[in-house]
Amino acid sequence: MKSNRKAGRHFLQIPGPSAVPDRILRAIDMPVMDHRGPEFGEFASTVLSDIKKVFKTRQPVIIYPASGTGAWEAALVNTINPGETVLMVETGHFASLWQKLSSKLGIDARLIETDWRQGADPALIEDALKQDSEYKIKAVCVVHNETSTGCTSRIAEIRQAIDSCNHPALFFVDSISGLASADLRFDEWGIDVAIAGSQKGLMLPPGLSFNAVSEKALDVASQCTMKHSYWNWQEMIAANKNGYFPYTPATNLLYGLAESLKMIEEESLEGVFARHQRHAAATRAAVSHWGLETQCRNDNEHSPVLSAVRVPDGHDADQLRSVILENFDMSLGNGLSKVQGRVFRIGHLGDFNDLMLCATLSGIEMGLSLAQVPHQQGGAQAALSYLQNSL
Ligand SMILES: *Cc1c(COP(=O)(O)O)cnc(C)c1O
Repeated sequence: MKSNRKAGRHFLQIPGPSAVPDRILRAIDMPVMDHRGPEFGEFASTVLSDIKKVFKTRQPVIIYPASGTGAWEAALVNTINPGETVLMVETGHFASLWQKLSSKLGIDARLIETDWRQGADPALIEDALKQDSEYKIKAVCVVHNETSTGCTSRIAEIRQAIDSCNHPALFFVDSISGLASADLRFDEWGIDVAIAGSQKGLMLPPGLSFNAVSEKALDVASQCTMKHSYWNWQEMIAANKNGYFPYTPATNLLYGLAESLKMIEEESLEGVFARHQRHAAATRAAVSHWGLETQCRNDNEHSPVLSAVRVPDGHDADQLRSVILENFDMSLGNGLSKVQGRVFRIGHLGDFNDLMLCATLSGIEMGLSLAQVPHQQGGAQAALSYLQNSL
């Protein structure tokens, strides 16, 4: 019997926005504070200081009331002059959107292409920088966790590649879907601008985004001629010194952020990373048992945040997703642009535990049968065994 009511919770297994835990929803559900009043300054100072731990930095972290795309734009308009060159690596859909954004700003983005099945190759970045003897490249821009493919880039190795040719370019890292799920070490890895968002590892609704900024990036910003206003770092940092903002911050999302930071602290950041790695490995055990392939082909670059799974030729990943949505009330991520219909994406990020993963993989396994996608049954069981043996 079909009815309009769906009992129980919807399974939002897309790789962001991730499901928001009740604790965070409760924290947001409070009266709005006067953002110029004395209480606010104290509250926001604590949040602005605590968020640094998640980036592993002592540098300022700027919080915008914007989606991740805004923070991409902020990183560029504060540092790159019109007509200047940046180096980007097209690891997937998000990297290519960032490149398009930079072109619209009049920035010349040189692109290293990939097959969308791996992270950014440090050796190719090194080659490109070696050839740039006039230092035309002002920034190297890399996506930490490519959410369209489930591939990560090796950020520390890319830093080494930049250093090995003594190139002065800034190093920008989009960790919108990486932060608070995959290890990111802003200071240790010599990142100049890290870009992040609220709706993925931080378990918040969409609406906040972040720029962590190095001393070097701030120096470059003080000379920058690109026109901008809303995104200006200096005004933000000046107001943030006392816990205030140059314009109205997203007050209630900041309450949510304070709660999220508390939850991460309780579990420990390293505990959060280990949980994500374990769930990703259990998911790959299921995928490999099904006889399906992940989009990521490099063992050392699998994402802890999501797994993108390829469907066999002649089958449609979107049809599979709609069968799963209709029968089991679960949303999976779709294949974006180049891989549309070719892959589906399983989000295993945020506030997520073993039994939620078991349910997710069971729903997919039933969906594979219903949609008649050829596979070997027992993948969910393989994941159960992995989970049980890795406690
Ligand atoms: C989600 C995401 C974005 C886009 O962020 P919005 O909040 O949708 O603007 C950019 N890059 C990556 C890697 C992402 O996962």
